[in-house]
Amino acid sequence: MRTLPRRAAPFSLLALPIALLGTGVLAGCREASPAEDARPHVVTTIGMITDITQRIGGERIRVTGLMGPGVDPHLYKASAGDVRTFGSADLILYGGLHLEAAMAELLSEMDGRIRTRAVTDDIDRDLLLTPPEFQGQHDPHVWFDVALWITAARTVTDALVELDPDGAGDYRQRSDALLAELTELEAWVHARVSELPEARRVLITAHDAFNYFGRAYGFRVEGLQGLSTVAEAGTGDVQRVVSLILELGVPAIFVESSIPRRTVEAVQAAVRARGQDVEIGGLLFSDAMGDPGTDEGTYAGMVRHNVNTIVTALGGMGPDEGRSEELGSPGRPEGGVPEG
Ligand SMILES: [Zn+2]
Repeated sequence: MRTLPRRAAPFSLLALPIALLGTGVLAGCREASPAEDARPHVVTTIGMITDITQRIGGERIRVTGLMGPGVDPHLYKASAGDVRTFGSADLILYGGLHLEAAMAELLSEMDGRIRTRAVTDDIDRDLLLTPPEFQGQHDPHVWFDVALWITAARTVTDALVELDPDGAGDYRQRSDALLAELTELEAWVHARVSELPEARRVLITAHDAFNYFGRAYGFRVEGLQGLSTVAEAGTGDVQRVVSLILELGVPAIFVESSIPRRTVEAVQAAVRARGQDVEIGGLLFSDAMGDPGTDEGTYAGMVRHNVNTIVTALGGMGPDEGRSEELGSPGRPEGGVPEG
């Protein structure tokens, strides 16, 4: 039986197409033109890496993030401009674990010429998930276990110190502040999730980005598509998920900002065709963050947005006081897109 309160999706789904217009943004643009900027140039891939790198590097470095809001890193192919950007880098920071699958060759080619570092390198291999369907490879979506992302932030710190030893004190000071913030975030996630009874912790999303989230915070996680988005969801995947929703009475499923929403909508339609209902509980940021300048455009803000969205839609007590301002806004509807 389901008697869960129905709540409006905290993040307006209408904002999704608008958010997608902001793709291809270079997240790290600054005032000085690149040619006259003598600071170390650090090129990053996904927004979550861009964010922690900017936080730790501060004004000592220039950061160029390749993948903006709505961009799918599994499918992302480097453009000629990206290759030039990599070529001008003093350090390249990427996710690794085959996250940037379509750039693997380019990254390994760069490795011989430019300092590169996968931010997941220092995570204990025993802590990595190796789902059977991924054929011996690790799941790359480590950022939704905040504790693992703290390790990634330490790796970024070490890489910046190696690149620019004169800035070590600066980097370590900013890193300590960030790590304290992330430690607090980790505690907040545990507290917020504990509002949901364990039986309601079933997270159904567009693709398998949330396995680390599930392990860390006690959710059963089902993705319609696999770990990578290269293979589209088939009718078998849809039927499997529909059966699970019917069996467990799951009240809500979720769309993701970097994945087309049609497969999730197909699940909803199939559930309704069987005489039950399931809500689309809101938009989750999985492999890309929100627009620059919004709360969801930061790593911590995106984690809070996702957790609030999940807990609210699955029947928690609603966002706690003081967080509501993050949930009321669908993000900036326009602007906020720095020129490339
Ligand atoms: Zn993914």
